[in-house]
Amino acid sequence: MEYKMKEILAKAMEGGYAVPAICVSNMESVLACFLAARAARAPVIIQSAWSELEPQMITFGELAGIIRCFEKRFPEVPFAIHLDHGMTEEECMRALEGGFPSIMYDGSAGTYEDNVEVTRRLRRAAGPDGTLEAEVGRVGGEEGGGGDCEIVKSDPGQLRDFLEKTGADAIAVSIGNIHGCHGIVKRAPELDFELLQRLHDVCGVPLVLHGASGIPEADVRRAVRMGICKVNYYTQLYNVYMDCVKENVSLTMEECMGKATLVLAGEIEKLMEMCGCAGKAF
Ligand SMILES: [Zn+2]
Repeated sequence: MEYKMKEILAKAMEGGYAVPAICVSNMESVLACFLAARAARAPVIIQSAWSELEPQMITFGELAGIIRCFEKRFPEVPFAIHLDHGMTEEECMRALEGGFPSIMYDGSAGTYEDNVEVTRRLRRAAGPDGTLEAEVGRVGGEEGGGGDCEIVKSDPGQLRDFLEKTGADAIAVSIGNIHGCHGIVKRAPELDFELLQRLHDVCGVPLVLHGASGIPEADVRRAVRMGICKVNYYTQLYNVYMDCVKENVSLTMEECMGKATLVLAGEIEKLMEMCGCAGKAF
């Protein structure tokens, strides 16, 4: 059954676990999310970004339709539909209009003042039932097709100010995590747990960890214990998915894609276990 993302995050915060947010852009990846959530009896956040949909020539509304068409077959799976990294206000509005009730606005590349202003406007546009995730600091690495950019760690004082001014429902933190399996630093990211603790202390809303691919499992588990409620995955999953496709090119298209869907579902199930949300379906 579909839920508001903020409801799924509130339950995670209360229960002391996180929900993996899986990037999808086609029917196969959506099905993998549902198969994994059913097997793990877990909630799941199904998300997509325009940079993932555009190359496949799929609109926000079409993807939302694909996700919701599986609701009938998987009624026991609690899920939310979310826009990952809306890079502009216009892109976030298109996602809302296309039936994404939850959006992330990524204003991390611009000034702090612009980030506050646009986030505040989008919070209003999302309405009382919508969910708005924003970013304070800058996660860095490759995101939204914009190329590599530097990390700016989140500042606890700025975070408090940001929340007061914008009313954001969830915050993506920059604590040494980076997009795209180590991105520009080419080594496993080292999370700043001391900073995470300080951010958690000033923040009453769920915290989000982006760029979790490549972060050692023990560190993800520790971050979840310290208040991370949503963990974003892309690179790690699709490396495994594409390896499976490449290994099975001699099969028919249907057999090859079916195998890849199952492999992807298996990987997502492992993430649910790691994030502590296996068995937490409600
Ligand atoms: Zn991200």
